[in-house]
Amino acid sequence: MPYKSKKQEKYHQRQWYLKNRKRLLEKRKKYHFENKIREIKYCRIYYKKNKEKINAKNRKYRAKNKEKINKHNREWWHENKILLLQKSKQYRLTHLKNFKEYGKKYYQENKKRLKKKATQYYIKNKIRISKWSDNYYELNKEYIKKRAKKWYTKNKDKIKFYHRKQTALRKKRCGILTVKTIQQVYTDNIKKYGVLTCYLCFKPIAEKKDNLEHKTPLSRGGTNEYKNLAVAHQRCNSRKRTLTEMEYRKKWGLPKWKKGGRKNERQINYNINASYCDDAHSFN
Ligand SMILES: [Zn+2]
Repeated sequence: MPYKSKKQEKYHQRQWYLKNRKRLLEKRKKYHFENKIREIKYCRIYYKKNKEKINAKNRKYRAKNKEKINKHNREWWHENKILLLQKSKQYRLTHLKNFKEYGKKYYQENKKRLKKKATQYYIKNKIRISKWSDNYYELNKEYIKKRAKKWYTKNKDKIKFYHRKQTALRKKRCGILTVKTIQQVYTDNIKKYGVLTCYLCFKPIAEKKDNLEHKTPLSRGGTNEYKNLAVAHQRCNSRKRTLTEMEYRKKWGLPKWKKGGRKNERQINYNINASYCDDAHSFN
C-alpha cells in the first residue's frame, strides 16, 4: 500500500503496533523463553567482546544517577524485605556447613587484621557498646539466664574437668595444704598469744569466727607452706582481699599487741574448717 508521505507511513505503522501490541509482546516473550539458553550464551559472548566499553558506560551511568539508584534500591529492599530475609536465611541454613568452613578459613587467614580492627572499633565505641549491652541485658534478662543455665547443664562435665585441672595446677604451684600444717599454725598461734588471736589486728578470735589466711595470696604467687599461713578474723581476712601482709599493714595501719593478760586461759579445743584442707579425707 503506497503512502503519500513519510509522516503518514510512520503514523500508520504506529497505529498498527498499538493495535497488535499485546500479541507482539506475547510473541516476543515466547521467543525469549524458548531461546533463553542461546540468548544468554550470545549475551555472554557479546559482553566478553565489549567488556571495557560496557563497564565504562555502566560506571558513567551509575556516577551520574547515584542518588536515584540508591533510592530505588532502598525502596525495593523495603518492599521485599521479608521475602529477601527469608530467602537469605533459608540459603544460609541449607549451606550452613559451607558458611562455617568459609568463616573459619577467612578468620584464620586474616586473624591479626580482624583482631586489630575489632579492638579499634571497641575503643572508639566503648560507651555506646556498654550502654547497648546493659540495655540488652535488662530487656532479655530471663532469656540470658535461661540460656546460661542450659549451657551449664550441657557442659557440666567440661566445667568439672576444668576446675579439677585448675586445682591440680594450683596444688602443683602452691603445694598441698595438709591438716598437719594447719594444726601446727593454730597451736603455734595459741602458744604465742595465749588464745587464738588474729595476726592482723591482734584481737582474740571468737569461736567459729576464724579464717586460715595466706600472708601472700595464692593468686599472687603465695604458697601453702607453713611460713605463708596464719590465723585471722573472718572480717579481717575479707578486708585484706588480695593484698599481701605488708600492703595490708600499710593501708590499714599497725595495731599493737599487748603481751600477757590472758595467758592462762589457753584455748586448745578448736575445730579446723575442713574446706581448707586438700587432704580433708584424713579428717574422717
Ligand atoms: Zn582481726
